[in-house]
Amino acid sequence: MPKLTINGQEFEVAAGQTVLQAALDNSIFIPHFCFHPHLPISGCCRMCLVEIEGMPKQQIACATTVTEGMKVQTDTPAVIQSRQTVMEFTLKNHPIDCPICDKAGECILQDFYMRFDGLPSRLSPEDGKVRKGKALILGPTLVLDQERCILCDRCVRFMREVAQDECITFAQRHDRAVITTFPGQEINNPYSLCITDICPVGAWTSRDFRFKKRVWFLKRAPSICPSCARGCNITLDHADGVVYRIMPRRNDAINLSWVCDPGRLAYHALEDRRLTQPLIKKGGALVPATWEEALVAAAKVLKPAGGKMRGILSASATCEEGEMFLRFCQKALSAPAPALLTGQPGSEDAILIRADQNANRKGLEDLGIRGNLEEAVAQAEGLLVQEAIPLHDADLKGKAAVVLSPAHSRAVDQALVALPCAAYSEISGTFVNFQGIKQNFQPALPPKGQARPASVILSQLARQMGKKLD
Ligand code: SF4
Ligand code: SF4
Repeated sequence: MPKLTINGQEFEVAAGQTVLQAALDNSIFIPHFCFHPHLPISGCCRMCLVEIEGMPKQQIACATTVTEGMKVQTDTPAVIQSRQTVMEFTLKNHPIDCPICDKAGECILQDFYMRFDGLPSRLSPEDGKVRKGKALILGPTLVLDQERCILCDRCVRFMREVAQDECITFAQRHDRAVITTFPGQEINNPYSLCITDICPVGAWTSRDFRFKKRVWFLKRAPSICPSCARGCNITLDHADGVVYRIMPRRNDAINLSWVCDPGRLAYHALEDRRLTQPLIKKGGALVPATWEEALVAAAKVLKPAGGKMRGILSASATCEEGEMFLRFCQKALSAPAPALLTGQPGSEDAILIRADQNANRKGLEDLGIRGNLEEAVAQAEGLLVQEAIPLHDADLKGKAAVVLSPAHSRAVDQALVALPCAAYSEISGTFVNFQGIKQNFQPALPPKGQARPASVILSQLARQMGKKLD
């Protein structure tokens, strides 16, 4: 393991490590645009220049491997001047349209200008800037502003190496150079929106999120994507009780720095068609009721004399909800282990997306919740169903049913009593992904409307039925 000195401090690092990675791992920041920990090194932005003893010129830290005894300086006057020079080139033709740019507030170019440059432009108005394409729609999810691009090559490397869809490239040379798609092509793969995360400026923006909310108003809550069995780490970015976007959260064992577009855009389900008050079926239609009325009505449905009751639980419910549901089925319904509501498998790839579109099938199966849905519905006289986001289509075949759900669904439409329960963004819990990795998450927001956590509803329902869940 080689030893090196950075700014007079000695560190021992893994063999083969670069100077930039060694510095970052030891809390010494060297500014960089093109380096990304999960992309191949490109070395094109020149922002990470450092002085290395014995080398006649400054070197780029991202592409220089540490050798034994290396002595690195990251903050000499010459290095500081090099950064300012690189920034001047980078900003020469930049449109500086920060007030109308969606990246403002999380733009690395803005941050580095304030931290490492701060000098006025030497370009006179007569010189003029090179104009390039604005607001180009290059696929169903993305908009490109070519003038804002600083030619860092991150998006090109991402598409080629990670998404495995070589759909974008540089065209032209020097200050005319632009990012563009190949002729006649658009960007249409399930990881397209990752380039809006890694683009250090506002060149790539998301058609879904564009102009919805200034980022400095958003609060970030760590969470887990429930849309497939991968369990990608995410943040729910929210303001005023509304989730505005999902962003990837780095986890090198699960999703690196990425999420898929379907998972990222699934946040709409946290807002759309939510069930926000209890409903009771009267005269063939579901009508609003108080929680007291709904719990009394639900207890009557679930307690028919000598009835055969069955429980059905979404495979995206948490482990804690699974334990509670299991106990409710045993103690309040005298029913066997619940069946799993899983939905149809989707398509799978070798990057992240799993065919199993449930967040916690493994965690619930490990608890013994693995009954067959069709058999449970066929055998039951009455059903207790607990759905979760993502919703899966459940046909209850006209059986008397109480349905706990975060949103309106086919099962809710068939219920005698529908009880609004909190979504994953509103509770704490645990998912176990397909690799067997347990991940805990906390609530980002309070439950919508009158919704309550499913565990609370089951406990209240048991009490209404004269049972106690420990
Ligand atoms: S569009 Fe963004 S990510 Fe792509 S090269 Fe330009 S600055 Fe880099
Ligand atoms: S791969 Fe699965 S867990 Fe990851 S973001 Fe996509 S849907 Fe969510």
